[in-house]
Amino acid sequence: MKPGYEAVIGLEVHVQLRTRTKMFCACQNLTGAIPNSLTCPVCLGLPGALPALNAEAVRMALALGLAVGAKIQPESTFYRKQYFYPDLPKGYQITQGPVALVEGGHVDLPGDPRVRGAEGPVRVRIERAHLEEDAGKSHHDLDGKASHVDLNRAGVPLLEIVGSPDLRSPQEASDYLKILHRLVVGLGICDGNMEEGSFRCDANVSVRRSGVVDFGTRVEVKNLNSFRFVRQALDHELERQSALLEQGGTVLMETRGWDAASGETRGQRTKEAAMDYRYFPEPDLPPLRVDPAEIEAARRALPELPDQRILRWREAYGLGQDEAQALAQSPAFATYFEALAHLGGSGRGAAAWMLGEVSRTLNERGMGIEAFPLSPEALAGLVRLVEARTLGFGTAKDQVFPALLAGEGTAEAIVARRGLAQVNDRAAVEALVDQVLAANPAPVAQIRSGKESLKGFLVGQVLKAGQGRLDAKLVNEVLSEALAKV
Ligand code: ADP
Ligand code: MG
Ligand code: ZN
Repeated sequence: MKPGYEAVIGLEVHVQLRTRTKMFCACQNLTGAIPNSLTCPVCLGLPGALPALNAEAVRMALALGLAVGAKIQPESTFYRKQYFYPDLPKGYQITQGPVALVEGGHVDLPGDPRVRGAEGPVRVRIERAHLEEDAGKSHHDLDGKASHVDLNRAGVPLLEIVGSPDLRSPQEASDYLKILHRLVVGLGICDGNMEEGSFRCDANVSVRRSGVVDFGTRVEVKNLNSFRFVRQALDHELERQSALLEQGGTVLMETRGWDAASGETRGQRTKEAAMDYRYFPEPDLPPLRVDPAEIEAARRALPELPDQRILRWREAYGLGQDEAQALAQSPAFATYFEALAHLGGSGRGAAAWMLGEVSRTLNERGMGIEAFPLSPEALAGLVRLVEARTLGFGTAKDQVFPALLAGEGTAEAIVARRGLAQVNDRAAVEALVDQVLAANPAPVAQIRSGKESLKGFLVGQVLKAGQGRLDAKLVNEVLSEALAKV
C-alpha cells in the first residue's frame, strides 16, 4: 500500500455447519458421496415441498453466538434471496433477515503494531451471524464439454458471520480469521476444511488517507480459500486501490475475484451490474423463536474455548503463544496433548512430543490424531523415561518411538530389551571421562590455555565412548570438574 493511506477491512465468513442432516430437510450433510445422491424434493426445490428448520443448526449457531459474546435474538426471521444459477434449484436461497439469530459480539486480536502504533489487544466487532443454506456445486471443467451440477451441497446449513470493518491490515484480517477458525473447530460446529470450502470468506476492503474518518469505497474480494490467500489478496488490493487514488483515480465499488495463479484480483461485476435479490419474507417458515431457558442451556453446554485453553496452557505449562496455538489446532489434538501432559509429568515435554514426532508421523501418514495408533498412556510411558533421564531424547526419538509405533510393547519393555537405558552412574561416567582425557592430551592442553570451544569435542568423544547411552548433562558436569582438576 502506498504511504499515507490506511486500510479498512471487514470479513464475511461462511461456516458450513457439521450437522447430521441438511438445513431444511432430512438429507444427510456429507461430502464425498455420489453426486446428486443426497437430495430430496425439499432441497431440489420441487413444487409443494416444505422446509422444516434443523434444530441442530440452531444449537450450533447459538454456541458460536454465545462464544463471541453476542446478543441472541429471541425471535429472528427468514428471507428469500432470489437469483438464478444452475446450482440453485429453488431459484432462491433461504437466509435470515432482517433480524438474525446472532446480533453483535466481538473477537479480540493481538493487533498489528505496525498499523496501530502500539502493542496490545484490539477488539473486532461482529455485526451479526445468520443462518442460511448453501447452494449446490457447479463443475465446469470435468470433461471439457459440459458443465455438471452436484446438488448434494444444496441446502447444507451455513452460518455467515459478518464482521465490522474494524480490521486495519492483512495481518489482522488473517489473525481474525484464524481465531474464528479455531473457535468453530473447537466448538465442534465445523470441520474447518478451507480447501473444500467448509470455512470460506469474502473480504471487503477499502483505503482512506491517514487521518480521514470517512470510509473509502469498498471492493469485495471473493474466492479466498486459505489464510495465505487472504493476506496476499488484501496486500494486492490495498496496493491497487492506493495507487489508483494516488494517480487521481477513483475506486469502483465492485466484486473482484482472487486469482491465486497470477497473484491478482480481477473485476467480476460492478455495483451497477450488481444483482437485485428481491428479498422478501419466506412464507413457508415461521419465525425462529428461542426461549431464555434454551439460551441458558446452550451457555452451560459451551466447552472451554480454544483461546481460553491457550491462555491456560501458557500459564500452567510455560508454553509460547505459537506452540499453544498449534496444540489447540483441533479438539482431539488438544485432548490428546492434555492427557499426555498429565500422564507424562510435564507440559513442556508433552508439547515437544506432540509438535515434534507425533505431528511428523501424522503428516507422513496423512492421518489425524484420531487415527494415531498410540494411546496417550503408551506415549506417556516414553515421555516419563526421558523426563526421568533414564533415556536420552535422541534415543527415545530415533529408536524407542518407532518401536512403540511398530507395536513392540511398552516403552519400558523396549528400553529393557534393547539395553537402551542411560548410564546415570556417576562413577561410570567419570571412568570414561578419564579415559578420553588421557587419550586426548593435545586438546586438553589447548583448553587449559583458554580454547574453551574444544570442550564440545571432548564431550562428543565421551558420548561416543558411551555408545550414545550417557546423559549429556551429566557428561558435561563431570568433564568440567575433571578439566578444572587437571
Ligand atoms: P453486502 O451484502 O453488500 O456484502 P454486508 O452488510 O453483508 O453487505 O457486508 C458488509 C461487509 O463489508 C462487512 O463485513 C463490513 O465489515 C464490510 N465493510 C463495510 N464497509 C466497508 C468499507 N468501507 N471498507 C471495508 N469493508 C467494509
Ligand atoms: Mg457481501
Ligand atoms: Zn433434501
